Amino acid sequence: MSEETKHNNQPENTEESNKFPKEHLQKRTVYSPDGEKIEIDPLQDYYLQDRPERRDPRYRVVEKFLNWARSESLWILGFGTGCGSIELPPLTTPRFDAFRFGIAMRPTPRQSNVFIISGYMSIKTLKRAIRSYEQMPDPKYVVALGSCTINGGMYFDSYNTINRLDKYMPVDVYIAGCMPRPEALIAGFNKLKQRIKEGRAEGANEYVQRFDEYKANQKQIIKDWNMPDYNW
Ligand code: SF4
Repeated sequence: MSEETKHNNQPENTEESNKFPKEHLQKRTVYSPDGEKIEIDPLQDYYLQDRPERRDPRYRVVEKFLNWARSESLWILGFGTGCGSIELPPLTTPRFDAFRFGIAMRPTPRQSNVFIISGYMSIKTLKRAIRSYEQMPDPKYVVALGSCTINGGMYFDSYNTINRLDKYMPVDVYIAGCMPRPEALIAGFNKLKQRIKEGRAEGANEYVQRFDEYKANQKQIIKDWNMPDYNW
């Protein structure tokens, strides 16, 4: 069953559902503890409205050095989606010791540059994953962990999961398997490092270049789209 047909039973992406009807996005007035009146417009105050911009490489030698530095400083966003996320914590234990490769975990997208999508992705989670991805500073990289991110895996026919992650966000490295062990993750990270050093981990720039296409795919499957297109 195709992704388009398997979601037919969901409500149409109507004009009504496309506005920003959610209460937390409406303008409101709040008062500080000392009684000061503060006007809040969440769509202006909480989101940047500009489109993302392409990051062009600097002068050759400088970019080469920067890429080397970037490859040795990978900060993973702690965001588990599918069963594969259970393979992430062992990476930071003494047995696998990911720190020796310059890999660390962060709890917020603003401080991370690697997003591991760790398995199947429900449509509900996709919305949050897109927002988190867009909030990460550029240059940033996506690692797709497990078969579910490649073709849906054992959830290929599910009514509420996506099949191909790269329709919705650019993927720099795939780690196949169900479920891939921590050793596979480390091998995947070595691949990612190699691609960064060679200047080939350009997923973030691809997202900028094909932004309208990615947005169209995202809106096609997320029926309750109630956030601005640009979330950084
Ligand atoms: S690839 Fe296997 S282990 Fe990973 S999320 Fe899918 S079913 Fe779970």
